[in-house]
Amino acid sequence: MLSNLQDAAKAAGRPVPLLLAVSKTQPAEAIATLAAQGQHAFGENYVQEALAKIEALRGLALEWHLIGHLQSNKAELAARHFHWVQSVDRTKLVHALAHQRPRDLPPLNVLIQVNIDDEGSKHGCQPQDIDALAAAISAEPTLCLRGLMAIPAPWPDAARRRAAFMRMHALKQALARQYPQADTLSMGMSSDYAEAIAEGATMVRIGTALFGARARPA
Ligand SMILES: *Cc1c(COP(=O)(O)O)cnc(C)c1O
Repeated sequence: MLSNLQDAAKAAGRPVPLLLAVSKTQPAEAIATLAAQGQHAFGENYVQEALAKIEALRGLALEWHLIGHLQSNKAELAARHFHWVQSVDRTKLVHALAHQRPRDLPPLNVLIQVNIDDEGSKHGCQPQDIDALAAAISAEPTLCLRGLMAIPAPWPDAARRRAAFMRMHALKQALARQYPQADTLSMGMSSDYAEAIAEGATMVRIGTALFGARARPA
């Protein structure tokens, strides 16, 4: 997979992005196998499902990213056990995570999730909400604003997919001008990572292309 990312980055004249291995539905053994090959960062969608794996693999010192929708009543567990939360999309969640992050841990890295194609079915904030969320996050010493995340609509038309990635890149550049630590743009999955990299993704979230097809839908 790494060489695929390198090829895509080279073809586009872009830096090679970080690879987040999306391990939802995968057993701890499959994660340990990838970790033994040098993979460090793993993404999970559900807090409860992730906790058992985080605990089982504690000795490997992996980096855990929450990429699924987070209910406020799960914020305490997320703030305690994850290193990154990529799905922050409302101020109530900002405050819950900030309040619950243990003071003896480094700040929790957070990404603002943007509903870039304005799909009613999707979580994420609207682009015009980014400023207020960024201000709320950066006011919290227990949080670190690291950038933006999006799951664009899977348009069959490549030009439409690229347009969504381009809009995300512009939003991230504007954010980073105000908040230099916001260096991350998380977008691109198994089917569209090359396009995401071409438009400026710094982190791609890959499940199927790494682990094979999921046995059950996530
Ligand atoms: C499942 C998932 C991915 C990975 O999807 P694949 O198509 O398996 O690579 C990436 N991001 C999010 C938010 C996901 O839920």
